[in-house]
Amino acid sequence: MNLIDTHAHIYSAKFDSDRDEVIEEIRQAGIERIYMPNVDVETIDRMLECESRYGDLCVPMMGLHPCDVKEDFEQQLYVMEGWLNSREFAAVGEIGTDLYWDKTNFDRQKEALQIQLGWAKAKGLPVVLHCRESIDETIELLENAQNGSLTGIFHCFTGSLEQANKIVKLGFLLGIGGVATYKNGGLDQVIPFIGLENLVLETDAPYLAPVPYRGKRNTPAYLPSIAERVGDMLHISAEIVATKTKSNALNLFKEINS
Ligand SMILES: [Zn+2]
Repeated sequence: MNLIDTHAHIYSAKFDSDRDEVIEEIRQAGIERIYMPNVDVETIDRMLECESRYGDLCVPMMGLHPCDVKEDFEQQLYVMEGWLNSREFAAVGEIGTDLYWDKTNFDRQKEALQIQLGWAKAKGLPVVLHCRESIDETIELLENAQNGSLTGIFHCFTGSLEQANKIVKLGFLLGIGGVATYKNGGLDQVIPFIGLENLVLETDAPYLAPVPYRGKRNTPAYLPSIAERVGDMLHISAEIVATKTKSNALNLFKEINS
């Protein structure tokens, strides 16, 4: 099975002690590409170090995570814009909104998101969106920002079928991760009604490990469990899920479909 992990923080310090072995297991598991979402200015060096070490596998994005939009966000965005102007990145990410951790910060999060959506439009890049307890708010922001050129992924989608349909209508894909394997994850009410052409797979490693690894450190090597589960929901093989979601991911990130 050849799979693409559209969202993994493989540069996380949680892999510092054994990253070489983890990368070997990832390759053995058939993972062909890992798209790495950036978090803040502190993670850039670590992420680019992974790219230079495992460049055939690990592809970086650039962006400021909504949970890290603080007083200094304009300085952080200035640094990131400099990076985006100096070399190629696969996407602007991870960006978005988060009303779970901090509700007082929402105006600032929206401002940072608007700025970064502007970069994506100007550069023709997809965006990778994080939204937690803020799917409706994020959909509304995107509906207003959409000029026909914005596209991307709602990463770690856990919403309703109605929200999923709105996202598809907006021209975005759903990022399906470990939550699909959780008993009360709710995605069995969504995935069977959303075409495979609108899905990509992800782990969000080191977080949100799928069943049967739930609670452990997550790794892209667990991605086949997610493909299996999505296949079960759609009554198709994991192989078909892998092939189609891989091609969706490569098309989105504008790589030649090999
Ligand atoms: Zn993430």
